[in-house]
Amino acid sequence: MTTTTPAVASRANEKSFKDKEKPTEIRSSNIIAAKAVSDAIRTSLGPKGMDKMIEAANGDVTITNDGATILKQMQVLHPAAKMLVELSKAQDVEAGDGTTSVVVLAGSLLDAADKLLKRGIHPSAISDSFQRAASKCIEILESLAIPVNLEDRDTLIKAAATSLNSKVVSQHSSLLAPIAVDAVLKVSENNNADLRDVKIIKKLGGTLDDTQMFDGLVLPQKFANDFGSKKVEKAKIGLIQFCVSPPKTDMDNQVVISDYTQMDRILREERLYILNIVKQVKKAGCNVLLIQKSILRDALNEMAIHFFNKAKIAVVRDVEREDIEFVCKALGCRPIASLDHFVPEALASADLVEEVPDAKFIRFSGVSAPSSSGTVNVVIRGSNKLVLEEADRSLHDALCVIRCLVIKPALITGGGSLEIELSQKLAEYSRSLVGLDGICFRAFADALEIIPYTLAENAGLNPIATVTELRNRHANGSKYAGINVRLGTVTDILAENVIQPLQVSISAINLASETVRSLLKIDDIVHTVR
Ligand code: ADP
Ligand code: MG
Repeated sequence: MTTTTPAVASRANEKSFKDKEKPTEIRSSNIIAAKAVSDAIRTSLGPKGMDKMIEAANGDVTITNDGATILKQMQVLHPAAKMLVELSKAQDVEAGDGTTSVVVLAGSLLDAADKLLKRGIHPSAISDSFQRAASKCIEILESLAIPVNLEDRDTLIKAAATSLNSKVVSQHSSLLAPIAVDAVLKVSENNNADLRDVKIIKKLGGTLDDTQMFDGLVLPQKFANDFGSKKVEKAKIGLIQFCVSPPKTDMDNQVVISDYTQMDRILREERLYILNIVKQVKKAGCNVLLIQKSILRDALNEMAIHFFNKAKIAVVRDVEREDIEFVCKALGCRPIASLDHFVPEALASADLVEEVPDAKFIRFSGVSAPSSSGTVNVVIRGSNKLVLEEADRSLHDALCVIRCLVIKPALITGGGSLEIELSQKLAEYSRSLVGLDGICFRAFADALEIIPYTLAENAGLNPIATVTELRNRHANGSKYAGINVRLGTVTDILAENVIQPLQVSISAINLASETVRSLLKIDDIVHTVR
């Protein structure tokens, strides 16, 4: 590097890039704003990272360690800073984990780019070089990956645990990690897993230790009526999308009744209308009726409850609109949109439908539908709402980690070991390059060290000493040397079981460099008049 630097710098000076002042200013203001965002969440990285308490305008409080969640709720005004928020979101969609790392990495790359800009290198040249460096990184990453067998449940659990370990709920990772693995493996097919088939239900009460996974279907409701018991054996289940209450007109209007005969008539009509529905339901052989939530009218009125009680039909009301697809898949039935279609063929069957006593949810077990093998329910229990929400987010990350492995069964080691190895390999490669590429690749390689640096800092270690030690170990061939936050030293991190999916790192490097490149190419911000 030292040999190429002066030569290139002087060449840059000779026909130095004469930019007007404004683009430079805009660029540096963009970089400053984006770096501020990245600095704000840096302290949350890693198992010893801090959590953030977020207070929303309406007073709601969230406690989280998840980068995407923190950024989503941050009120970011600067357009360039918003790009980092988007970056974190993109990583969440693409990989699900690594949402903090990606932003920290982008911040560091911006820093590197800033220094290169100050040396007079044209932003487009940096941008192009960074793209090539990112591709080279991916190439090196692939060569470092450790293949994993999806049958190897233990390894998958370790990967899920690594993701959970850096969360607020880390002490429960031994329970949550196997749940995440089993849930994803159950819904995976053709090397992919659709996480919409894993339904997470949050129930206040109990502790996280009571979190359980269920086959079949679990609904967070209680039975809406009292049909004499809390369970139904040999259930025939119907899912309706219409209401069992008197119809209403589309517009708000009033019916004024002036005498008793008219009143009687209305009551009689209503009674007949509801009785007709209940009879049809009974005739089809249905004994558990699920009713989709309606915002227009009551799903069920008093009279309907009375008739359903008499007919010994269990009713569950307010099934959420967005859950319908899941319920249908889990039970193997289709939703019934009108009474005419309420026929025995449209019903699903289950051995047992019961209200779980203290937990207040309804469980459908022994569902005899071919498609039920493709769905799974996880009921998270927790003593307060904050814990529940964070457990949900953390479990989501763990599920995503396993999904990444199902899509691409390859692992890499964490604890900063990968980044150091990558940085050294890339720096080595940069020496074979001539011209600007050499400098930019080197800068890119150095920027990767931010991850181990930050991990060490957050773990209360001396970051410079730790990173130097890591460099040293890696240079001497121990490619799995990483920061062991438990012992507070540098050890073989593979033996410590800190492993994470290759896909997460690939996506982080790709997305971070892409964002940095687009930030570099902006030379003006145009405000429109509304
Ligand atoms: P992200 O939102 O980016 O996933 P995390 O807070 O989950 O951020 O931190 C992830 C980083 O922490 C990764 O670089 C990972 O290698 C590291 N890490 C996780 N567990 C450990 C551990 N037990 N020891 C050392 N590093 C760890
Ligand atoms: Mg994570």
